[in-house]
Amino acid sequence: MKPSWYVIVAGCGRLGANVAGMLSNMGHSVVVIDQNEYAFEALPPEFTGFTILGDVAAIEYLRESKIQKADMLLAFTNDDNTNFMVAQIAKRVYHIPRVIARVYDAGNLALFHEFKINTITPVLLATGALNKVIRNYMETTT
Ligand code: AMP
Repeated sequence: MKPSWYVIVAGCGRLGANVAGMLSNMGHSVVVIDQNEYAFEALPPEFTGFTILGDVAAIEYLRESKIQKADMLLAFTNDDNTNFMVAQIAKRVYHIPRVIARVYDAGNLALFHEFKINTITPVLLATGALNKVIRNYMETTT
């Protein structure tokens, strides 16, 4: 049987909302936190978890999310400093075993890696995917 994890998604924008829906669909218990009340409208219909309205940089909202029992935390706001701080709290204070931070500016990646934080940088993923598509075009162009 696949495990059902307790997952906290900090930031419910384009990335966080989609991933929260995907994780819900996989059977995980998901809590999303966002400071913008309208952000939750981006959650897809398959999302069955809970929402918390608040600033993830304020420890009270992380506590409200029951961060101490999380199996995974995704720091997916659009602010690298916030994601860095939330990821650090999750790792070092609460010892959450799986933490991934979104890094908006690839120039900040070295700092995250220095602190051993797993990262996702959407602009690099998009560039990698485009690289494959363009190479494929070139190989098939006569
Ligand atoms: P997006 O770039 O579309 O993935 O959206 C990023 C989301 O992060 C938005 O919904 C923002 O409201 C949210 N966000 C940014 N900073 C914070 C914060 N400090 N606390 C909670 N949510 C935040």
